[in-house]
Amino acid sequence: MTPFLRPHLQTIPGYTPGEQPPPGSTVIKLNTNENPYPPSDRVFEALQNIDGELLRRYPDASARMFREAAGTVFDISPDWITVANGSDDLLSIIMRAFVDANSKVVYPMPTYVLYRTLAQLQGVQPCEIPYDESFNLPISQLATADGAVTLVASPNSPSGTAIPIEQLEKLAVQVSGVLVIDEAYVDFAESSALALVRDHDHVIVLRTLSKGYSLAGLRLGFAIANPQIIQDLNKVKDSYCVDAIATLLGTAAIQDQDHKNRNAERVKRSRGTLAHDLEQLGFRVWPSQTNFLLIQHPDAKALELQQWLKQRNILVRHFNLPSVVDKLRITVGTDEQNAVLCQHFTHYLSALKSS
Ligand SMILES: *Cc1c(COP(=O)(O)O)cnc(C)c1O
Repeated sequence: MTPFLRPHLQTIPGYTPGEQPPPGSTVIKLNTNENPYPPSDRVFEALQNIDGELLRRYPDASARMFREAAGTVFDISPDWITVANGSDDLLSIIMRAFVDANSKVVYPMPTYVLYRTLAQLQGVQPCEIPYDESFNLPISQLATADGAVTLVASPNSPSGTAIPIEQLEKLAVQVSGVLVIDEAYVDFAESSALALVRDHDHVIVLRTLSKGYSLAGLRLGFAIANPQIIQDLNKVKDSYCVDAIATLLGTAAIQDQDHKNRNAERVKRSRGTLAHDLEQLGFRVWPSQTNFLLIQHPDAKALELQQWLKQRNILVRHFNLPSVVDKLRITVGTDEQNAVLCQHFTHYLSALKSS
């Protein structure tokens, strides 16, 4: 760190992304909730047909092609949509648009750690309201905290639980600032809160192609909200934060809903099998509407187990956050990967017993 760094940034830790091993390594990677299946064939076709002209020119700053395709899929006008370099970028844009040093950023905990980092980068100490053991949304506490921005990931990470739309609507009615509903995992869930944006002009729903569409490497996320909110966000974002390739490939991906839905069904089936197998091994498994499971074992220390797995080339995620330090978050992999994981758990637990 240099003395040039702005004072409020000197004391904050910044965000630590999940470990990304180099391509070609033989790890079983269940730590960052990537989709275990490849993206749509239409994405690869579009990639093969890219010509130099697409790269010579600046991209369309509004990614109209993508917004029109997404608008068709979600039955919404394209001027209710804006795109950015992943939904992480949209979260950052939202903070820059609506939060200054005197305003509050509010969210329930535990949740996506980036919310804390982005608030701190903005010079604000966030207001974190604890979830209870069953991850019920603390609606009135969130609302009375009076955030300029209130964030709810639904389904939530690392819990995997989804908030019913009636509860999100209650919160929407009570908050005074902007309500962000981060639906990064919606493709694996039973329902969506997207309908809320029509009735509540201060609600923003965030979506990403990273999880459901198997395109975490592409970096494309989008926000859906009232056109006036969208205009506020467009004012703040970098004009060209989504490049021509991401726009083209993202359009191909979102037009292939069948591919996305098929893979989501496979992941959900594997999720059920894995949850059952883990329960057989004595794990507590929280109900999940995502492509991961939050798990806890009465005999195993979570951090030790995570490191033991890492030595055996299996990456899972441990969070040093209140109420989940004793738990692990495990991405649902292919059935083969999940079976290998369970074999390792079996070895670990039997070694524990005999020691
Ligand atoms: C993965 C994730 C994101 C990040 O999405 P990108 O589009 O890849 O930036 C956002 N929110 C939550 C809750 C996530 O888990």
